[in-house]
This record gives sequence, C-alpha cells and structure tokens, in this order.
Amino acid sequence: MRIHTSDAIVLRHGDYGEADRIVSFYAREVGLLKGFARHARSSRRRFGAALEPFARVRVQWTAPRGEGLVSLREVELEDLRAGLRSRLDALALAAYGCELVEELFGDGAPHPEVYELLGAFLDVTAEGGEDLAGLRLLLEMRLLRAAGYVPHLLHCSECGDAGGEGVFFAAARGGRLCADCVSGAGLRLSSLTLGTLARCLQTPDTLFRGFRFGAQTLQEGGAALVEALALHLDRPLRSLVFLERFLASPKVPESR
Ligand SMILES: [Zn+2]
Repeated sequence: MRIHTSDAIVLRHGDYGEADRIVSFYAREVGLLKGFARHARSSRRRFGAALEPFARVRVQWTAPRGEGLVSLREVELEDLRAGLRSRLDALALAAYGCELVEELFGDGAPHPEVYELLGAFLDVTAEGGEDLAGLRLLLEMRLLRAAGYVPHLLHCSECGDAGGEGVFFAAARGGRLCADCVSGAGLRLSSLTLGTLARCLQTPDTLFRGFRFGAQTLQEGGAALVEALALHLDRPLRSLVFLERFLASPKVPESR
C-alpha cells in the first residue's frame, strides 16, 4: 500500500466514536485532505498534539480503496503555533482563515500557493504584534485573488470610468461602480479605499508584516470584501460569528 507524505496545516478535528478522530488538513501537495486518526483519543501517545488545529505538521497517509477518508499513519508536529492559544481574538481569526480556505479551496486540487499563504498568515497571527483587522483584510484580498475572484477595484466594472472620489461597490455586478452606473443598491465608499485594496496585491502573498491601514480602509474595504466573499461561498461561515465577537464587524456604509 503506497504511503503518501505532505507538509500540512491542521484545519480542524472532530471526534469519532469513543477513541478516534476525523481530522481536516490543508496539505501542500494535495490541497484539502480529510483523514481518519484511529485511537487518537484513546492513546495520547499515538498522535500527541499533532492534530491540534492550526499546527504545521508533516502527515503520512494511505489512500482509501474507494471514496472516503484517508487513513492517517503518522502526523509529526513541526510547529504548534502556540501563540494562538493565548489570545481568543487571534484564535478566532485563525479559525476564520482556515474555514475560508476550506470553503474556497476544498475542491480536491492542490494549491501550494494557498498553503504558503495560509501558513504565513497563521505564523504572523500567532506571533502577535500586528493589527488583526489588517491581517484579515490582507488574507481576504489574497484568497480572492488565488481563487480568481478579485472584483474590479480601480475602474467602474460597467463603463470602465476610473474617476471620482466617491464611488460604489456591488460584488454581484463585478465590483466598483461609478455614480452614473450604480442605479440601485451599492456600498458607498472612497476610491482611495479601493486603491489601497488593489495595492495589497502588489506585495508578496506571504508578507503580512508592516502594513498600516486607516480606520476608513478597514471599515469600507472590510465591508466590500465581506460582500465579495459571500458571493462565492455556499453558506455563511461558522467561524465568522465567533470572530465578530472580537473584531468589530465592518459596518456596511450608507447605501443608496
Ligand atoms: Zn460606470
């Protein structure tokens, strides 16, 4: 039986029966990987802390005969990212990042760039020292790009107009809209906010340190990204409710 190996991030785990666990990983080589960890609960020695959410691990598994969970043989802990466990707001943001990756990239195809991006995001969130709302904005922008869903930011998505300070945003219509094209509901925001979002994509995907976003960018940009992501998610994310207890939810600006 062939043994497969990959670097991976533990996304979450659940109990199964009396003794076992089901664990979801995001693996560099294969993307979303769901495995069955036999005796993970009855014998602590079997996997130790290596199945804890957000940990960076090296996982070995064998594939099932047909559909279904892979069988986990060994999971070696490389970094627990222990800093996440000392702050509830950081923990909530990490859980949100993991759920977002699972929902957007759980298609069974490998996306090594998403593995690197999520790993760098979790590292910085665990180490602390950065504004969590800014980390969230960067993560959302970059995941949208990795999924091929970046909305129009610098030009009106309908007429291409790039002027105007006060503009609108409607994810379902492609993103930015000028005052002439909006003719319905749209978030009202500053073109500077959308310019800042666009500039986030000119930096390396794994760079999360050293950004400073103003309150207006976090509020307006955050609301636009919530809308842009919702368009591509089948259901509201469970972790978002928990996250919003800690990070003020981006308020939807006045619409018209
Ligand atoms: Zn227009």
